[in-house]
Parts: sequence; C-alpha cells; structure tokens
Amino acid sequence: MDSSSSNLLPYFARATEEFKLCPNRVWAVAGGKLPDVMPDNFEPPRGREKHQQCTFDFCEYSQRDFTAVKQRHECMNGDYTLNETAKSGKSTVWALDGKSMIQPPGPYMAISHVWSDGTGIGAWPDGEVNECLYTFFRTIAERFECEGIWWDTLCIPKGREARQKAIGNIPSSYQDARITLVHDLFLRNCEWNEETACFAIIMSPWFSRGWTAVELAQSRKVKVIFRGPSGPIIKDLDEQILAKDDESNGPRKAASQIIQNLRKGITNLDHLLAVLGSLPVEVIPPTFYALIETGILLVSGK
Ligand SMILES: [Zn+2]
Ligand SMILES: [Zn+2]
Repeated sequence: MDSSSSNLLPYFARATEEFKLCPNRVWAVAGGKLPDVMPDNFEPPRGREKHQQCTFDFCEYSQRDFTAVKQRHECMNGDYTLNETAKSGKSTVWALDGKSMIQPPGPYMAISHVWSDGTGIGAWPDGEVNECLYTFFRTIAERFECEGIWWDTLCIPKGREARQKAIGNIPSSYQDARITLVHDLFLRNCEWNEETACFAIIMSPWFSRGWTAVELAQSRKVKVIFRGPSGPIIKDLDEQILAKDDESNGPRKAASQIIQNLRKGITNLDHLLAVLGSLPVEVIPPTFYALIETGILLVSGK
C-alpha cells in the first residue's frame, strides 16, 4: 500500500464505522476523493439497511432481486387504459385520480427512485411499511401544482408492443415533466442539512444506479426528499442543494461537483456504457437495456 492510500484509511474507517456507510458505495463513488468530499458533521440516516457485511468491492444489498420487491398497487386499476395509450405512442402519465392519462403540456411530476423501495424488509421506518407510495407522491404532486404522475412502476405497461413504446418514451417522460422527484429511503432518513446534503446524495443508493445519470440529464427541475424536523422535507437540487459557483472550496463543493459531473456526463452511448460498466449488473433495471437496444439513448443525449 502506498502512502496516499494509507492516508485514506482514517477517512474510510470513519465513513464506514461512525457514519455507517457501505464500504462498497464509499469506495465506488468517492474513492481517493473521500477526504475532499466527506463532511465532519454527517449524521448517519436512521433505521437503514446495515452494511457491516459489505466489503469495498462487494455490497450485500446490490445482490437483492430488485424486481421482486416492486410494490403492488391495488389503488390503480387501469391496465387497459395504460396499454392503449402506450400503443398509440402517447405519453403514459396518470392523472392524479388514477382514472385517465394526461398529455403534455399538462403539468406532471416524474419520479426517479430506487427499485428496492417497494420492499418492507427493514427498509421502511416503523409504521410506514404498508404505506401506498402513490398516495404519498400524489400529495407532493399537488403541492407543486402537477396534475399527473409518471412513475415507471405504474406507467410502463406489460404488453410487449405497448411496453416497447413506453420504454422508448422514458427520456421524454423526464424531459416534459414540470418537476422530477427523487425518492430514496436512504435520503428520506437523512436529516436535511445544507452542509452535508450533497455528500448524502452521492452516498445514496439512488446515486449509484445507472439510470440516475440519464434521468438527471433529462430533467428540468429536480426535487429531493430528505428527513425534516416533522416529516419529509423537499429541497430543490439547483437552488438549495448544489454548491454555488462562487462558493469557496470544501466538502460541500467537492461533493456537489460529483453530482454536477454525472448530470452533464451523459452525452453519448459510449459514455453511458462506461457509467454502466462501473456498476454491478443487479442495480441496472431491465428497462435500461431495452432503451439501449431501441437506440433511444443515442438520439436523446443532450
Ligand atoms: Zn453495502
Ligand atoms: Zn398504490
């Protein structure tokens, strides 16, 4: 071990022992930049998955079957509507009442989330295990004067032809949204703190999945849910979370830079494949490969 990596050890020990972060995530995202990005006063999120068994090159949680933990939605009953709308090539945004679909420019909220969120296996805070996420999202959509919601779990139909078309529309589903809401239970359990928010984001499961870069690049306005003094609190990525251009250097600025780089990083398919290549296969949703196959990512990169 050379001297530069032995300097990292105390930071690495603090991140994994005191802050209870996953060694694999710390290493994959921050790596040698850990001393630059890690704030002194980071508070580990409450009631989270435990990463004691993980090593720097392996995360136990990335081995879960992510598709098996998708949430069931008995609140919605519109398979026919969804299929027909998707087949006609139109956007598949549900109106808030869940009874019809709305088309742009009707204002709606797109959800960017982690697939493991649907599970009740220790991930949800007590008392929220059976919460219907749709109801939760709907309340937020109303607050931002959105009339509909786009969420892959509910807006991508199962029929082959309809599914293919809806998948092709994923980039525009984010582009046309009034806001994109980031939902990650890790972040929802992290207390909001302006100084440490960027670090929390780069350490979140949401940040380390392949999808995120594309959704970030496509979205116009991004909102992130953190833990507030009395329930969830929503912050704006550009206005409240990221460091300002003229801000002095420090952990906040360094972590912010990592987020900004990912956001503008996806410019072509090669780059996307490079990003994907650095991730465990299990964290990449199947729809991602379908997107590559249809060539959508080649033409939609900004
Ligand atoms: Zn882990
Ligand atoms: Zn539901």
